Amino acid sequence: MTEGASLDQRVAELATVESFEPPAAFRARAHATDAALFEKADQDRLAFWAEQARALDWEKPFSTVLNDTDAPFYRWFEDGTLNASYNCLDRHVAAGLGDRIAYHWRGEEGEERAISYADLLDSVQRFANALRDLGVRKGDVVGIYLPMVPEVAVAMLACARIGAVHNVVFGGFSAEAVRERMAVSRAKVLVTADHARRKGKLNAVKSVLDPALEELPDLSHVVVVRAGADPAQPCPMREGRDVYYDDAMATAAASCPAEPMEAEHPLFILYSSGSTGKPKGIVHSTGGYLTGVSYTHRLVFDLDPERDVYWCTADVGWITGHSYAVYGPLANGATSVMFEGAADYPHPGIWWEVVERYGVSILYTAPTAIRACMRWGTEYPARHDLSSLRLLGTVGEPINPKAWLWYHTVIGQERCPIVDTWWQTETGSIMIAPLPGLTETKPGSATHPVPGVCADLVDSSGQTVPEGTGLLVLTEPWPSMLRTLYGEEERYVRAYFSEFGPERYAVGDSARRDTDGYYWVLGRVDDVLNVSGHRLSSGEVESAIVAHDKVAEAAVVSEPDEITGEAIVAFVTLRGGVQGSPETEADIREHVSARIGKLARPSRIIWADDLPKTRSGKIMRRLLRDAVQDRELGDVTTLNDPGVMTALRDRIASGG
Ligand code: ATP
Ligand code: MG
Repeated sequence: MTEGASLDQRVAELATVESFEPPAAFRARAHATDAALFEKADQDRLAFWAEQARALDWEKPFSTVLNDTDAPFYRWFEDGTLNASYNCLDRHVAAGLGDRIAYHWRGEEGEERAISYADLLDSVQRFANALRDLGVRKGDVVGIYLPMVPEVAVAMLACARIGAVHNVVFGGFSAEAVRERMAVSRAKVLVTADHARRKGKLNAVKSVLDPALEELPDLSHVVVVRAGADPAQPCPMREGRDVYYDDAMATAAASCPAEPMEAEHPLFILYSSGSTGKPKGIVHSTGGYLTGVSYTHRLVFDLDPERDVYWCTADVGWITGHSYAVYGPLANGATSVMFEGAADYPHPGIWWEVVERYGVSILYTAPTAIRACMRWGTEYPARHDLSSLRLLGTVGEPINPKAWLWYHTVIGQERCPIVDTWWQTETGSIMIAPLPGLTETKPGSATHPVPGVCADLVDSSGQTVPEGTGLLVLTEPWPSMLRTLYGEEERYVRAYFSEFGPERYAVGDSARRDTDGYYWVLGRVDDVLNVSGHRLSSGEVESAIVAHDKVAEAAVVSEPDEITGEAIVAFVTLRGGVQGSPETEADIREHVSARIGKLARPSRIIWADDLPKTRSGKIMRRLLRDAVQDRELGDVTTLNDPGVMTALRDRIASGG
């Protein structure tokens, strides 16, 4: 038997295991192994948060913790002042850690740059001065539209240093998406690149943006990073408006002391993924946000900044990249990997090559990436030494147990705890997750709220649902919560604080609580299915379908049905690009019936070569719903590949 086959068999064997204790060797050296931390937070929540906030360096210490007089506009640590870039850089350098690597950057073609904390501080000071030279002042918005190059972190921290508010747009988005986000936030400066590399190709960025930039009257300057200069593709520069990053750095002064900011000063705006509708411009604060991300990054990843090499694979264009590739790890003085490329370029084993090369000990990624690796096969990770890994994390979607077990067995080699972290762009930092040295994990459950965070499940009238399925709410404010939606205060109140009042944050996800009190986030409220009066979660049905041997990925939605109210339609991708047959269809229906019940059997299966996903890899069920109900598709601006929907519409029209 090959090693791959025996690992697959091991994954199948573990399918009956309900929960996993923290591995003994991990537990022996973990920081948090005592449940007293939860009690401490419960006894005096505000004192607990104040203590976490005091782990940061404050220029002026705060005396009040929470001001809730204008709920739901909560204010944290409001009379304190601090600077985020100071906390991420200066204080580590001052403590003698200037030589520590902040980022091992790895380019697509294998280029490497080791950037120390001292290097990063130098670049950030210069770029902060360069921004000032371009007229940027405290409170101005600076757009950032860059590939995964170190300059993206430099630009973010330089903004933070002078109190400019950054608005990062994911590099894979279109010129129109950039225009819209810059227009709405009235950005003064945009930092972008001449070109971006993607899977061996060089794509023009700046010249493609140019027509859109014409429509932005507030934008006075564009800074262009040379991220892949190609003489064959000239990058047109407009005199007086556009300046190369290198040139701006060369003329800028070297020293730029960090400017103290009020704790509530906005640190950034970031648009949410757009899985459920029109993206929202989420605003985060300086003091509360930094408190939340540094605390959770230390606790949930059991960080040891002296020994760990930490890699969050998310692009900085997402909240995960902001909180756990930039602010969290830098505030904690961690060493990170920053990887420019795609997971399968130049080959599907590149991630494991990177883990081996830098000795990555903590890996944080998304279920969609894990499922892709499963599809590519166990032979790729098997070619590399993964023994440096000690902790694995996941975020972004519910993780189906099969993917969890594969991650645990093939990547973690049954040695690494998995932290399934539930949170949102809005929450700023991790809300529900295991503490890896303490919590027994159950595949597919994010377990419990972290100390300091209070959650509950309620029915639509707001009554607690002690056990079973309900709507997830956060019942107390927390420091890293969003402060508003940019320019849309009324939408902020309506979206999060109208359903259950200004005291309870309505998450918009449904979840189940089991007899042990574990939370199982099932997915968005909109994705819940109602078959013959029974509420089923799309994630639960999808997990059952994906557990079938032949299936690689699945998404289910409902369509109206005269008899059952709603009927389940499943979009299914088979492993190895195989086409579906009526036999496989019958087999999958039988399989779902055996796992959940007859009720959950899809009434239709549509074979899909691919599923519609956001650029961050989440399945956009609302588009599938539009397609099966033959409606016009809703907002598609954050859809990764529009071709997928065209192909699926053809399949639906031809009866699957
Ligand atoms: P939009 O709000 O624009 O529709 P989005 O909700 O996908 O987009 P994010 O803020 O990136 O944007 O994602 C948060 C959502 O992702 C959560 O509300 C939840 O539905 C899902 N999610 C994140 N992590 C997990 C997890 N560990 N388990 C289950 N679901 C998760
Ligand atoms: Mg959301």
